[in-house]
Amino acid sequence: MGGDTIAAISSAAADSGIGIVRISGPDSFAVIDRIYRSKSGNRKLSGEKSHTIHYGYIEDEGDVIDEVLVMIMRGPGTFTAEDTVEIDCHGGVCAMKRILETVIKNGARLAQPGEFTKKAFLNGRIDLSQAEAVMDVIQAKNEYALKNSVSQLKGSIRKEISELRERLLYHIAYIEAALDDPEHISSDGYGEEIAGEISQMREKILHLISTADNGRILKEGIRTVIVGRPNAGKSSVLNKLLGEERAIVTEIAGTTRDTLEETINLNGITLIITDTAGIRETENIVEKIGIGKAREKLEDADLVLYVVDSSEQLNENDAAIVRMLRTKKAIVLLNKSDRKTVTTREMIEELIRNENGAAKEKNGSRCSGALPKEENESSEKSPEKQEIKSSRREETEYPVLSISALKGTGIDLLEDKLKEMFYQGKISLNDEVCITNMRHKELLMEAKESLDRVWESITLGMPEDFLTIDLMGACRALGDITGETSSEEVVNEIFGKFCLGK
Ligand code: GDP
Repeated sequence: MGGDTIAAISSAAADSGIGIVRISGPDSFAVIDRIYRSKSGNRKLSGEKSHTIHYGYIEDEGDVIDEVLVMIMRGPGTFTAEDTVEIDCHGGVCAMKRILETVIKNGARLAQPGEFTKKAFLNGRIDLSQAEAVMDVIQAKNEYALKNSVSQLKGSIRKEISELRERLLYHIAYIEAALDDPEHISSDGYGEEIAGEISQMREKILHLISTADNGRILKEGIRTVIVGRPNAGKSSVLNKLLGEERAIVTEIAGTTRDTLEETINLNGITLIITDTAGIRETENIVEKIGIGKAREKLEDADLVLYVVDSSEQLNENDAAIVRMLRTKKAIVLLNKSDRKTVTTREMIEELIRNENGAAKEKNGSRCSGALPKEENESSEKSPEKQEIKSSRREETEYPVLSISALKGTGIDLLEDKLKEMFYQGKISLNDEVCITNMRHKELLMEAKESLDRVWESITLGMPEDFLTIDLMGACRALGDITGETSSEEVVNEIFGKFCLGK
């Protein structure tokens, strides 16, 4: 198998209970033999059985550095497919660093980020999509993302892509063989023969591409914007979500207060709430309605939470907000359910129906006097965009949930609704392949375009050798997903993003 022997701290480089220094490569056992001493004396670990654990000390020229457990694993049955040694030491940064230094002094070199996984890839133990899934497992923000990454790690994408590639390679080989030996193999009419299969492959690729939107949400979280009239309870809802016992909160302050984002983990669902600074701090009335800065955020938002004060009457501001939502997935939170109800579910549903209906008549280009200035401007700016959005809007249903941010009632309904709207129960099925990596999505789109061209050539009755160029194009794009055809540069770039020690 060859290659260098590399080493790195594989656990976090921070004080913790246990630290792990990992060594991988042909000299791993030679290195450990030089620095390990068992309690009873000088037993060499290279003579021990594979996949065993040994208790002893790591020494540097006679100095005991730490008391350790050493795991020895012979390749190819290891993560990298090479001989591997893992030293479990005390998890102090100093102890881990000293052990790593000693390992390096005795014949290993410091690993680059992701180099262990790169070895696993280069040694053919995993493909590129599985290597990328390793990082996704580490970075998974919620249990859904974790589940999906583990399924990719087990090879779900590899399997789908390999099946498609094998069929394409078969057809390319057949056409090429016919060109080489036309006397014995005929490719006449081969295009028509494979047309049905090409069409099926295209459908399959399109389906995979269609999972990517959900995939991004799964991986990164649901980009959420909260809007509503002043005092409707936007801050209270946000605080309730942040304050949930189950919530894990991280604040990422941007360059300005307007770009503050908070990530909330609600029972496995990740919400990235943007513009929370706008919700909390601003006194500006338009901002308070949530239409100013929120409008920009809305463009990218996956979800809008529209907070309505059920103890107050609806007014023109609500109408303006509803019109703004027309292209979006939204949930109406009928807040203050602990108070006497003035605005009912039926009233808000009627408002939505009326506003949506009004927009439909004018196909999105209507300028109502009640609309705030920005709304008029944006409608005039891009009628085409509005048109597309209006037609999409008809599919949009806004669930209305009765909650009390003050008492904390109804928040569980929100969780259920989010699961229904974004995860559609599909994630629980382990075999559902979901594209979460944008590199994969782009390559799938390339493959699809190549197949479009194959299809076009078939319909135009082009000669069969014409098909191979685009069949190969599709094959190469798919091969780049699994790494079979990727350049060294691409491979290096992918592993360069990994963390050290992985
Ligand atoms: P925002 O301007 O939309 O961010 O609204 P706030 O969250 O600041 O809430 C405005 C007022 O409504 C505050 O006094 C809150 O305590 C109150 N409030 C918010 N939610 C509820 C609720 O569910 N029930 C009741 N009774 N009051 C609420």
